[in-house]
Formats: sequence, structure tokens, C-alpha cells
Amino acid sequence: MNLSLKTVAQATQGKIQGFENPVITGVAFDSRQVQPGDLFVALVGENDGHAYLDQAKKAGAVAALVQDDHQVGAVLPAVSVADTLVGLQDLAKAYLAEVSPKVVAITGSNGKTTTKDMVAAILAQKYQTFKTPENFNNEIGLPVTILSMPENTEVLVLEMGMDRPGQLTFLSQLARPDVAIITMIGEAHLEFFHTRANIAKAKLEITAGLKSGGLLLIPADEPLLTEASELPAETKTFGPEPTNCQETLKETKFVDQGQKFAIPLLGRYNVRNALSAIRVGQAFGLNLETIATALKNFALTKNRTQMLTAQNGALVISDVYNANPTATKEVLQALAQEETQDLVVVLGDMLELGDQGPALHAGLKDAVLAAQPKAVYLVGDLMVNNLGPALLKSDLSQTKIYNYQKNEIDQLTDDLNQRLQANDCLFLKASHGIHLEKVLDKIIANQ
Ligand code: ATP
Ligand code: MG
Repeated sequence: MNLSLKTVAQATQGKIQGFENPVITGVAFDSRQVQPGDLFVALVGENDGHAYLDQAKKAGAVAALVQDDHQVGAVLPAVSVADTLVGLQDLAKAYLAEVSPKVVAITGSNGKTTTKDMVAAILAQKYQTFKTPENFNNEIGLPVTILSMPENTEVLVLEMGMDRPGQLTFLSQLARPDVAIITMIGEAHLEFFHTRANIAKAKLEITAGLKSGGLLLIPADEPLLTEASELPAETKTFGPEPTNCQETLKETKFVDQGQKFAIPLLGRYNVRNALSAIRVGQAFGLNLETIATALKNFALTKNRTQMLTAQNGALVISDVYNANPTATKEVLQALAQEETQDLVVVLGDMLELGDQGPALHAGLKDAVLAAQPKAVYLVGDLMVNNLGPALLKSDLSQTKIYNYQKNEIDQLTDDLNQRLQANDCLFLKASHGIHLEKVLDKIIANQ
């Protein structure tokens, strides 16, 4: 990127303060992440970014985007706009138009990050590809992602989050996708949306900015999407996953369109994520063999069924980034097929399920029993009060159950450290709010 203050002012309809004419080579909104040459965007949220102008300058910022005629004085040359968030978004739009890559936009209740990583790994076989870092998927993260893309980017793969109606319309109109994917409609956010039909409607807003002739990919087994009115002309479906998937602890194998695939992940839902990514690869002209090679080696953002090793050599499957009933059952099902290792399961609350939370927690009972763990550690009120009693009513001669409150993570860590054997397989899953990653910090080797 190579921007002048004048270009920034034009893109944001802002006013220039100061006379220098710096060359802007990047954009940052967090002063701790400013790189030399950056434009520092002073966002106003819980913190007021204007308080960090000095710090941004020290870190190498050459200009600032400020709000409400904030006077930067001698600190930095600046462009002043009515609202710096809108300014950031306008700037992203202008840069996107200039670089003009093909855009793939991915939303869905679950599987966005996983699918994004898969799609990017596949398209990188043929194109200069840039993807959303980590989980930068909202009104701030999306423009920042766009502004971080190298100028030679041919395909931009964007994750789009959604927690209220209207949000995806906005993000989609900002990014103007050529391909849009809805991974699935889940139970997440039921607390706010009440019905899955409402969630489906809000997810379909991803087509609001779809370019004319653009492709929409939706799951074949989701009538809330396949039967929706006003789908784009180019709508294709993916899945459901083939019935003969072969799962081991380290990988899942399946056949699609006659091609063998192996993905380094557990859980059939990941096959579904892969199927949509395969369709995108094909839409971009890649052959199935190339796509299979990319999927075999792709690197997933951490803590999503990530395989790790404990200090004592035990296998640890970390799925502590997020949890929902469907995915939790599916990984337990995969683990049930493993006979070689002693299984220890740590399950923390699955949040944001609204009224259905208690029943959905108790509903994990059969999947847990089928996996035949030697121990189950439950963390949080929903697990302890619902899954705990359901398990205790069953025949559990082989399984020990331990209960923990949300604030007893340290105790849980100590107990696991003491009891974990070298030939155990430790599986941890919970919503992010339970912070099971704190357990990992102390159990995993070399951390
Ligand atoms: P977030 O909304 O937090 O950004 P995300 O949509 O990006 O989440 P991922 O990070 O890819 O989702 O996956 C998080 C968890 O969601 C996984 O660990 C798994 O439990 C579950 N998951 C992933 N893909 C699917 C899917 N297709 N169906 C159901 N659950 C899934
Ligand atoms: Mg994500």
C-alpha cells in the first residue's frame, strides 16, 4: 500500500490537518500494533483512540485519522472526519476497489474460520490469496483485513460475523463478494434471535452485496436456506457429508466426486466445511487433485480440534475456542470409534443457547456414554447441573465424574496435571467464555 494524505481525505471525505505529505504504507487502529509508515485510526469505543496518538507516533505512525475536528497539533499530520469508524470503512472500500481482487465471503453460525482457512489454502495453490487474520470478522475487523491485504492480492477470503440483523448487509455491501458461503445455521445466538428461521434470514443478508452473477453456496440439508425466497440465480449446494467418512484421531478421510480427501481434523462437520471449500476451489478453476493436496496440508487457526502433546506425552485435543451441541456430539462420536487410548473428557458450558441451554447440555449424555471416557470433568453451572445429573442416572461403572465451577479452572488444571497418564487422550471443549485455554497453558509441553 502506498497512500497519500490527499487520497485518504478523498476516500473519507475528510479534511487535511498539517502540511507534511507522508507516505502511508499501512493502517492500524491499535497503537500497540502500529508499524512504521502506518496511518493510525483513532477509533472511539470503550477507549478513545485519540488518547494514544503520541504512542502511535512513537511506534512509527506517519499520519492519523481523527474525529470531530480533534486537533492533533504538532503530533501527526491528520485527516479529520465526522466518524473515524466510517472513515476506516470508506478507506477500506476505496483500497478494495483499487486492488480489486476476487472476494470470497464466509458466514454461518459455526465453521467460518475453519472454512476460511480451507478456502484460502486451496485458492493459494493458484492465486495470490489473502485471508482474514484470526477472527477479524466485524465492522472493524473486516475493513482492517481489507487494508492489510498486499497490493498484488488476487483473491481475498473474508470471514463475516453476524450477531444482529443488518450487520451482514453492511459487511457484504462493503466487500462486494464474488462468492458467498453460508456454512450452517446453528443454535448459536438463539438467545438473541429466538428461532433458527430468524438466524437463517439474517445470514442470507450476505447476498446483499453479492456481485451480479455471483455464486452463493449453502448446505443442501438446510431447508431454511434452500427453500428461501429470492436466492441468487447462481445458488449451489454442498453436502451433506458422505456416510462412509473414516475418522481417526489425526484425520478424517472421505470421497467426493470420485476424489479421495484427507483432512487433518476430527469431526464430520469439518467434512461439510471442506465440501463447501472444494466447491469454491472448483468455481475458481482448480482440479480436485490440487484441492485434495491443499486440504491435506492446510493449517487451521489454533484451538479448533487442534492436536497437542501434554508435558507427560499424553495426546491433547484442544477444542476450547467454541462449543455447540452439534459439534460437541460429533467430536465425541469420532472419539467413540477410537479404542487405543484412555479418554479423559473436559466439557465446559456451551453459552448463548437461551432457554434451551439446560436441555441441550443434558442432551450430550448419550454421546459422552458412547465415547466411554474413564473420566469426565464438567465445568460451569450448565454442565454441572444438567449433564452431570443425566450421566449419574446412567450406568457409569467405568467413568468418574468431577464437577467444577467456572472460577475453579486453576483447581481443575492441578487435578488434571496430577491425574493425566502418558497414554491418555485428553479432549477439552467449551465456549470461549469458560476459558479452558488457561488449562492448556499449564498442561501442554513447551508453552
Ligand atoms: P466464531 O463465530 O467464533 O468466529 P466460527 O464460525 O469461525 O466461530 P470456527 O472457529 O471455524 O467457527 O469453529 C468453532 C467451532 O465450531 C469448532 O471448534 C466446532 O466446535 C464448531 N464447528 C465448526 N464447523 C462446524 C459446522 N460446520 N457445523 C457445526 N459446528 C461446527
Ligand atoms: Mg471465527
